[in-house]
Amino acid sequence: MVIEQSATTIKTYNPATKELLGEVAQASAKEVEQAVAASWQAFESWQATSFKERSKALLKLRKVISQNADEIAKLISNEVGKPICESYMAEMVGPLDACVWFAENTEKALEDQSIAMTNPLLLSKQSIISFEPLGVVGIISPWNYPFAIPMMSIIMAIACGNTVVLKPSEKCPLIGIKIGELFKQAGFPDNVVTIITGGRSTGALLSQSKVAKLIFTGSAIGGSKVMAQAAENLTPVSLELGGKDAAIVLPDAPVAWTARGLVWGAFTNCGQACASIERVYMVKGPNNQKLIDEIVSQTKKLELGPGINPNSDVGPMIDDEQLAKVESHVEQAKASGANVLCGGKKRDDLGGYFYEPTVLTNVNHSMDVMLQETFGPVMPIVIVESEDEAIDLANESHYGLSASIWTRNLSKAEDIARDLEAGTIFINDGLFSFASPQVPWGGSKKSGGGRTHSYFGLLDLVNIKHITIDSAGGMNRLWWYPYGKSRTKLARAGVSFLHGNNPVDTVQGLINFATNFLQKPKS
Ligand code: NAD
Repeated sequence: MVIEQSATTIKTYNPATKELLGEVAQASAKEVEQAVAASWQAFESWQATSFKERSKALLKLRKVISQNADEIAKLISNEVGKPICESYMAEMVGPLDACVWFAENTEKALEDQSIAMTNPLLLSKQSIISFEPLGVVGIISPWNYPFAIPMMSIIMAIACGNTVVLKPSEKCPLIGIKIGELFKQAGFPDNVVTIITGGRSTGALLSQSKVAKLIFTGSAIGGSKVMAQAAENLTPVSLELGGKDAAIVLPDAPVAWTARGLVWGAFTNCGQACASIERVYMVKGPNNQKLIDEIVSQTKKLELGPGINPNSDVGPMIDDEQLAKVESHVEQAKASGANVLCGGKKRDDLGGYFYEPTVLTNVNHSMDVMLQETFGPVMPIVIVESEDEAIDLANESHYGLSASIWTRNLSKAEDIARDLEAGTIFINDGLFSFASPQVPWGGSKKSGGGRTHSYFGLLDLVNIKHITIDSAGGMNRLWWYPYGKSRTKLARAGVSFLHGNNPVDTVQGLINFATNFLQKPKS
C-alpha cells in the first residue's frame, strides 16, 4: 500500500484560544523505517538487561516525571485544554503509580512457570513456560489522555524488555516530544523509546512497518484501519477503542451524591473520555425527578473555561471537528423530540472550541446521541420501567468498554454487573481505573480486543514460550513410528504397562489408550 503524505510538518493549537503552539515534523516513510530499525538495534541490548536494571530505570523515570510535573501539567492543559487539576490527577498519577507497580511486579509476573502434564504417556516430560520480550512495540496514541495513555503502554512495554516507537496524536505532538525528553532525562539508552510525530499517514506507516506488535488506542474506525494495515505483515495488534458507556441508576441511589458522580462521569475532560458516561438509564422510582433536577442544577454550576485557569471545571473540545459532531448529535436529538434541560449550544464568545455541558431527556435509541460515541459534554437520560430493561438497553450498543451502576444495594449491583457486556463495570463510580496499573483495562465488541495494564497486559507484551524437556531421552515414544508390530521391547513394555496383563499389540494398544482417555471425563 502506498501512503500519501501531503505535508512535511503539522501544526498544533491551543483549543481554548485557537492560538498556534508549534509546528513539528511529519515523519516520512524513510524516517519511520529508520526509527523502527534503530529501535530494533536498541532492543539487542535492552532485552538483555535484567529486571532489576529496568526497575531501577523506571523508578528514575518516576522521579523525573515528578520533578517536571508542573511543566508537564501546563503543557497538557494548553495543548488539549483540560482543567489543570485533571492534568495532574488523570494524566500523571497513573504513570507514576505504573512506574512503581511494574518496577515491583514485572519480574514476579514473568518468572518461569513449571507445568506438570497429566497424560500418563507424557509423565517423563517437564514443561517450562518462559516469557520473553517481543521486540519493537509500535504505539499509536490519541489526544484525549495524551500523557497517561502512551506513558502507561510504554512503561509496561519496556518493563518487559521491549523497545518502543511512539506516534502521538497529531493534535498533541508537543506532549509526545516531551515524553521523549523525559526518557532521555531519566537516562534511558538511545532509541529504547523513540518518538515520531505526524498525522494518520505517519501512523499508517508505523502500522505497516516491521514492528513486533502494535498497540493502538483511538477510534473504532482508526482501529479497523490499523488492523487492516498491520495485516500485511501479520503484525499482532492490541486495540483500545471507543465507548458509549451506560450508567444504570437504581431507585435507591442517594440523590445528591449520585448526581455528583454522574455529572463528573459525563463532563470530566469535557466528555472526551473513552469511558465517559454517555447515556443514563434511571430505573423508575420516586426520586427520578429529584435526581434529574439535581443533575441539572449541578451541571449549570460548572464553570466553562480554559483548562489552565484553576477555576475551570470543563475545558474546550479539542477542535472544530469534534465540536461539530457534538452539535450534530444534540441537534438531531432535538429535532426528534429531545428536551434540552441545560446547555445545548456552543460558546464562540469564549474564544475556543467550547460547548456547554448539556443534559437531555426524552431521548431514545433512534438517536445518534444514544448509540454513536458523542465524545463531548452531553448527558442523555432515559427513565426505564425495570432493571432488566436498563440492562437490555445498556447492552444494545456496538461498544462494550465500561458501564456503571449506582445504588446502595451492592449485591444487586454485582448481579447486574455480570449481565452487562463491557470490559469494566464500575459500581458507584466511573472512569477512574483506565490508568490503574494493577487492574486490566480493555473492552469488548467494537471497544477493542486485548487488555492493557496488570498481569494480563504484561502477557500481551511478551512471547509466551513453552520449553519442553524429556528426562527419558533415548527411550522410544509409543506414538512414534513404526505403528506396526516391529516395535522395540521398550515400546511393547509401555503398552503392557498401560494395559496390564491383557495382551494387545502396539497399534491396538494405542487406540485403546486414546479411546479410554477420551472417555475418562464421562466416568
Ligand atoms: P483517532 O482514531 O482519530 O486517532 C488515534 C491515533 O491514531 C492518532 O495518533 C492518529 O493519528 C492515529 N490514526 C488515525 N487513523 C489512523 C490510521 N488509519 N492508521 C494509523 N494511525 C491512525 O482517535 P482520537 O480522536 O485521537 O481519539 C479519540 C478516540 O479514542 C475515541 O473514540 C476514544 O473513545 C478512543 N479512546 C479509547 C481509549 C481506550 O482506552 N479504550 C482511550 C482513549 C481514547
